[in-house]
Amino acid sequence: MNVLTLTETTLNRLGVDKAAWSAGDLAIDSPVTGERIAQVKANSADDVARAVAAAKAAFDTWRQVPAPRRGELIRLLGEELRASKEDLGRLVSIEAGKSVSEGQGEVQEMIDICDFAVGLSRQLYGLTIATERPGHRMMEQWHPLGVVGVISAFNFPVAVWSWNAALALVCGNPVIWKPSEKSPLTAMGSMAILKRALDRFGDAPEGLVSLINGCGDVGAALVENRDVALISATGSTRMGRIVGPKVAERFGRSILELGGNNAGIVTPSADLDMTLRAVAFGAMGTAGQRCTTLRRLFVHETVYAQLVPALRAAYESVSVGNPLDSDALVGPLIDAGAFEAMQAALVAARELGGVVTGGERVSVAGAEDGYYARPALVEMPQQSGVVCEETFAPILYVMKYTELNDAIARHNAVGAGLSSCIFTMDMREAETFISAAGSDCGIANVNIATSGAEIGGAFGGEKETGGGRESGSDAWKGYMRRATNTINYSAELPLAQGVSFDI
Ligand code: NAD
Repeated sequence: MNVLTLTETTLNRLGVDKAAWSAGDLAIDSPVTGERIAQVKANSADDVARAVAAAKAAFDTWRQVPAPRRGELIRLLGEELRASKEDLGRLVSIEAGKSVSEGQGEVQEMIDICDFAVGLSRQLYGLTIATERPGHRMMEQWHPLGVVGVISAFNFPVAVWSWNAALALVCGNPVIWKPSEKSPLTAMGSMAILKRALDRFGDAPEGLVSLINGCGDVGAALVENRDVALISATGSTRMGRIVGPKVAERFGRSILELGGNNAGIVTPSADLDMTLRAVAFGAMGTAGQRCTTLRRLFVHETVYAQLVPALRAAYESVSVGNPLDSDALVGPLIDAGAFEAMQAALVAARELGGVVTGGERVSVAGAEDGYYARPALVEMPQQSGVVCEETFAPILYVMKYTELNDAIARHNAVGAGLSSCIFTMDMREAETFISAAGSDCGIANVNIATSGAEIGGAFGGEKETGGGRESGSDAWKGYMRRATNTINYSAELPLAQGVSFDI
């Protein structure tokens, strides 16, 4: 079955109306074969304003629905996602070029966050706090925040929305989603699934969840709307530099999940066989198109000669191919622009003395217009220039180090601060790396690579990665507002800090 037919069959099975994806002006090409698979109707700034007004009205009702009842909607969403996992996962593979396993894994992540959010709906705890005044009680409550705008990137076309939406909805907020202009179909599939959950739920207010398709200008209309209380934006640091200040200017709240330039350190005591497998997945998986992809590797000089040739062999032999009809480990880049950016980075790396293995375009039979590239391993004499930036492609820069402290300093000497890892059997090295004096990233792992996070932990990074946290732990607090309440049940009016004000 060709990709176009597969897309149509899958969208039909998911229940997406053909009129919405067949006659619009937003052209969608599958990275798998490069062929045009849809023409999606893009929304306008007026559509955004309408969606926000409807969401604002829905907020008045939804915030008063008891949180465990709101959790019921997410429980139903989880059920519907389970029923449609195969179809939605396939659509992720078609639209984002992920392997079948990774496409299915992305939908599993949506199911996992639903499970998490259902439990959370009974655990939106506030504290009771000791007060210094007799006959008083002090406590905090977490209240729904308002309309949440979710802007997402192409590479996790549906999981990112679910991380935000499952939490935001349980927390009492309506959600408006602006997916990447490169991945509107998976968004439409997700909305069709959500609609079935809403139908079964029964009495959710109109406008509680909506989808607006389009490019950055449509996203900007959402960002600038004062009635959107929180913008959760996932994408490049370039995008975050625009979106962050715009939201701040109107004193809105933002969660920014931006680019990464993630690194690992391989110490003398590392289990090199495990390191090799972990690095291979971290650096080449998803064709290097994860925000958490491993992009820099500092290898101790005593194990360099053992590890790096083995890595080189893995790069030379890894299977690159059509993710839909083979079990190739590396699929396509999203488009020509991504391939060109990869080539430009390799040219720049060579100019800095880098020795490149791989990186060339791979011709895949039946998918000649897809942009498949052999992952590139680049041995660098030092960390400078292009190594310090995120290129959203499978390039791993490898460098030698002698002292751990120096490796940690170089590890931290880039703008991004998302994910990091160390491979070691030495407890002192491991603990140093994850200590306050170690990695400066939001994620710091030991003996696993930088990618492949679970939903139970808070996800996000520091510095140019934006500082936002999503998903597990107490990330839900970002979707609520905190009210501190002091209740005087005495007949006196003592003032705090012993202040007197007798009239
Ligand atoms: P991108 O920045 O090009 O686009 C992301 C989203 O932002 C899209 O929906 C786009 O339409 C929107 N957008 C662009 N300009 C905008 C503007 N001015 N106002 C409002 N919205 C705007 O990113 P991409 O190419 O889709 O994704 C790859 C990037 O995303 C990489 O840098 C990757 O590291 C990052 N990413 C980060 C995370 C994370 O959690 N930290 C997760 C996935 C991807």
